[in-house]
Amino acid sequence: MKIQLLDESVASQIAAGEVVERPLSVVKELVENSLDSEATEIEIELENGGLKLIKVIDNGVGIPRDQLELALTRYATSKLTSVDDLSSIQTLGFRGEALASIRSVSDLILVSREDSDRTGNYITYKNGDIFDRGIQGANRGTSVSVSDLFANFPARLSFLKSARAEGRRCSQLVARYAVAYPKVSFRFFQDGNLVFHSAGDGNQRDIIGSVWGDEIAQELLPLEEMNIGNVRIEGFVSPPGITRGRKDLQVFFANDRLVEVGFLSFAVADFYRNINPKGRYPVVFLFVNCEPNKMDVNVHPAKIEIKFKNEGEIFSALSRSLNNTLKDVVIEIQKLGVLSGMEEPFHGTQFELEKPSQELNSNQVGKIIDGKITTANSGPINDLHPLAQINTTYIVAQGRDGIFIIDQHAAHERIIFENIIMSQENGLPTVQGLLDPIPINLDSSQKENLSMIGPSMYKYGFQWDKLEKGNIILRGIPISLKESETVSVFKEILDLDTVSDTSSAEGDQKSRSSLETRDREIAASVACHSSIRAGQALLFSEMEAMLSQFQDAGYPKLCPHGRPTTLFLSHGKLDAQFGR
Ligand code: ADP
Ligand code: MG
Repeated sequence: MKIQLLDESVASQIAAGEVVERPLSVVKELVENSLDSEATEIEIELENGGLKLIKVIDNGVGIPRDQLELALTRYATSKLTSVDDLSSIQTLGFRGEALASIRSVSDLILVSREDSDRTGNYITYKNGDIFDRGIQGANRGTSVSVSDLFANFPARLSFLKSARAEGRRCSQLVARYAVAYPKVSFRFFQDGNLVFHSAGDGNQRDIIGSVWGDEIAQELLPLEEMNIGNVRIEGFVSPPGITRGRKDLQVFFANDRLVEVGFLSFAVADFYRNINPKGRYPVVFLFVNCEPNKMDVNVHPAKIEIKFKNEGEIFSALSRSLNNTLKDVVIEIQKLGVLSGMEEPFHGTQFELEKPSQELNSNQVGKIIDGKITTANSGPINDLHPLAQINTTYIVAQGRDGIFIIDQHAAHERIIFENIIMSQENGLPTVQGLLDPIPINLDSSQKENLSMIGPSMYKYGFQWDKLEKGNIILRGIPISLKESETVSVFKEILDLDTVSDTSSAEGDQKSRSSLETRDREIAASVACHSSIRAGQALLFSEMEAMLSQFQDAGYPKLCPHGRPTTLFLSHGKLDAQFGR
């Protein structure tokens, strides 16, 4: 067959396939261009998950009036002139491919104005070709509108998820950039609603809170800053207990570029393996900075994978920083491991094991009569007798065959969880009415989720009336729930990942099981907020009541989130530890 050069439009559509895969890719390229243009304000608007419209407006330096067409030409860039520049690249873009690729698979309008210009200039493309150009009033900066993405490419469209899911990916992406660029103010709109915005005042926690909730924002620990050689590492990480069911909130930036780097994920997974229960993952925001020439950014079409030249240095900087940040909590966990002679010992070796420093308080411990421990008060009613509470978090109890250390929150949570499920299944009352109804303001995604999972929430005891603008007033709450926790639980449920994941594909087998998962997560959220907290001092009678319920529930080993409820040290193990 004869070899011939592809014409420009075919070539750019093929190239576009690599750069523009879905609405998220367009949003990423446009936002990166705005960041490269030194914008301090960036606004992103999506319609129908980005399929109808993606518009990004910035207040950056703008594009010279005679270069609009050039900006949309393949391999035209202002960011790189020679191949040597590639090794010290400071900008997010450098290939000059994005705008050209995007216009070949959509209809595009570019408007831009440099500071020195009196008016703005625009150029429009339809079906990949120039359609119109001229002068128009505009603020300093650039706006790019991308309409009907992939409208003429049904094969591409068929790869996409629902508009909702695509929109969610975009909002999650922009939110990550907002955290990494806290000095830039971002506003993200979806179908006319402001989904989130960042102030641009440098406060990263505020941004994390407004997107992923205050609990995460408040609990995340600042990673101990680590400088090794020319590598600097900083960020935020989960303490134990702040976990997610997926690795979806592990965010890595390298020199201000959002990246996926296998060994960084591995370092995190390896470190948390001994801290989190199976199937639970930490939240991580990690920012690595190094000299540009230590990082090859030109290894992936969408520039998301990169290669560090000094992987070892960065790996050890991250491990050390994680160690220093979480040392104390991990030693606490390991103490319990030593104390219990656990069936599955912690195999982590990063920390020296310490002797338990906290002796049991002899006033709290039951008396020893005839060589047997009895409880401090009236006598046995259960198989389990409380001996003491340690660290206002764990109940130490004597059982027939050994000693139990019970996480008071995890165990209680599981008990309540079972009760909630059972009451609901057996048609027992699930709701307590509120004397003072509570109005709740919801954001747009919460409103949307409520319209979908309302029936499930109702089933577990939430009752509400609608107010205007989709906000609601709560009139009833689950029977076990404390009133003070109501608003946070209500919102937490509407923010659950499983809620949005089950929305798009109802009906088939897979979605039935995800609906069940979703219902269980709703019950787990209610249980979590209804139960005794870690840090809460308990009376002996309260511990006894709790243990009796725990026994009735059949000593469940895991809490609804999958954390262990109990460590058990059998008499046999105890004897063995003392060489008897
Ligand atoms: P690259 O970012 O790799 O250079 P693009 O196709 O994304 O390639 O953009 C081409 C050029 O258009 C950029 O190099 C830049 O000069 C200009 N440009 C694109 N977007 C903007 C923007 N938002 N503000 C200023 N200039 C821009
Ligand atoms: Mg670019």
